[in-house]
Amino acid sequence: MKIGILSQNANLYSTRRLREACEQRGHEAVVINALRCYMNINSVQPSIHFEGHDLVGIDAIIPRIGADITFYGCSVLRQFEMMNVFSINQSIAISRSRDKLRSLQLLSRKGVGMPITGFASKPDDVKDLIKMVGGTPVVIKLLEGTQGIGVVLAETQKAAESVIEAFMGLKANIMIQEYIAEAGGADIRCFVLGDKVIASMKRQAAEGEFRSNLHRGGSASLVRITPEERRTAVAAAKAMGLNVAGVDLLRSNRGPLIMEVNSSPGLEGIEHATGKDIAGMIIEYIEKHANKKRRHQQQ
Ligand code: ADP
Ligand code: MG
Repeated sequence: MKIGILSQNANLYSTRRLREACEQRGHEAVVINALRCYMNINSVQPSIHFEGHDLVGIDAIIPRIGADITFYGCSVLRQFEMMNVFSINQSIAISRSRDKLRSLQLLSRKGVGMPITGFASKPDDVKDLIKMVGGTPVVIKLLEGTQGIGVVLAETQKAAESVIEAFMGLKANIMIQEYIAEAGGADIRCFVLGDKVIASMKRQAAEGEFRSNLHRGGSASLVRITPEERRTAVAAAKAMGLNVAGVDLLRSNRGPLIMEVNSSPGLEGIEHATGKDIAGMIIEYIEKHANKKRRHQQQ
């Protein structure tokens, strides 16, 4: 097969590993920078050009669309879909997952557990907003934050009010969440492929920190997850419509609670923590499902 990896940087660990895995399994891999693609949108023969050529003969796409190029990246991916190319994650599911409010609304509709969460833009009653999620301590998050930046733990009413007011002053949309103290500064990353969790790791925050992000000094280790955690992670990926997902959950007294569902989960941390060939498993999944789609179209 000819497999396109939609990625802006061929040297990133995940991109390199996916390319290696393609080649090891006898496929041809092409790294395609979505920003450099230009498209011909028409009803007869839609096409995509890249580096001066018509991109033809691609059997499957692995989208690795950075959060900073979601809009254009998803448009290029949608164009591949218009051309009947199999994509391991569909553009619509990726767009959904990039909107934290929409994601949590979808998860709540499917009954997936999550911390009590409020959303606000310019709340006219900050005290009531805090009360609505059960009072302090609360975690306040900037909607567009990543890697733990923009996530604040406010332990007192005064602190919570002033952080919310400060974010409001910046005209930012915010999320305010019940603080899951019993998680002990740890979260669990479940790597979902299809309807299975194929790998999981625990990320523990550094001493004195509640955010477990590796970029904030957290450390990763191997963990055994419970059947309930497994079911919850798979249900979350399914609710979003993602075949590949990094599902982050917190261990709480009332069971697993979903924090976020990532549609382009990194491979480096999880492959190192578990020693598993995740890239190889992704290619194997594509072999099974892209072929199925092709056979289906020929019939
Ligand atoms: P980001 O998208 O920036 O990674 P997250 O929502 O994942 O933001 O939060 C960063 C980290 O903060 C999480 O990995 C987790 O360790 C901690 N955290 C986030 N929300 C809560 C919460 N409600 N209760 C306890 N810890 C939390
Ligand atoms: Mg996170």
